[in-house]
Amino acid sequence: MPEGPEIRRAADRIARVLVGQRIEAAEFTPETLRPFGPRIAGARVRAVDTHGKAMLTRFDNDLTMYSHNQLYGRWYTVRRGTFPNTGRSLRVALHTGRHSALLYSATDISMLTGEELRSHPFLSRLGPDVLDPALDASAIAERLDAQRFRRRSLGALYLDQAFLAGLGNYLRSEILFCARLHPALRPQDLDQAALRRLARETLKISQRSYRTGGVTLPKSRRSKIGRKGRRARFWVFARAGKPCLRCRKPIEKGSRAGRRLYLCSVCQDRGA
Ligand SMILES: [Zn+2]
Repeated sequence: MPEGPEIRRAADRIARVLVGQRIEAAEFTPETLRPFGPRIAGARVRAVDTHGKAMLTRFDNDLTMYSHNQLYGRWYTVRRGTFPNTGRSLRVALHTGRHSALLYSATDISMLTGEELRSHPFLSRLGPDVLDPALDASAIAERLDAQRFRRRSLGALYLDQAFLAGLGNYLRSEILFCARLHPALRPQDLDQAALRRLARETLKISQRSYRTGGVTLPKSRRSKIGRKGRRARFWVFARAGKPCLRCRKPIEKGSRAGRRLYLCSVCQDRGA
């Protein structure tokens, strides 16, 4: 499933063609959404925001479209009048004078008023967005240390959208490796220095992944190992059996909270 950085990049693409523009025509294929077509036509798009893996397309008439791509949803932006070559089924089409933003295959889509947005059952239980520019490392360290989170394993916490929205499976493995912490550790096992290090790496890795389109290895490290393309994206994720880029021991693959997780048992401290 795409994680926060991928969703934010998709939102940026859509924002470039929609924000500030008037929607000339809107089509919704799900039965329950069809009545919104005429209400969206004529509205302007104020913003395309994300909260974790949810996308919020805000119109200037108090309506917001909530969409969650799950595994299959996919956005395309095209010149108006053209359509991508895809076998997917079209769910939403928003047409401006020049462009179209098209959402295919997603099933979790709704149109919400401001009031419904504030009380949305999924959105209201999300933690802060990991890519929110207002989120800093001390806020993350505080959250790690909070009563409701401090007794849970890092492996479970780093998938929980109520802790931080936008984290996901590859970010979890990469952040814990870069913070040199074993996934079985709990925040309450960590001293202040380790908590702060984890908070800093959480921000740094998520922001790097957003900037680079899913590459968590720093540029300097990529050129040093002389590899390019998709094979040189991660420190540990999907690298089971390959040598750790820090200590050369083979990367291990495990599972936590039902999803695969990769780690180096030499570099990642298990604690006392
Ligand atoms: Zn290592």
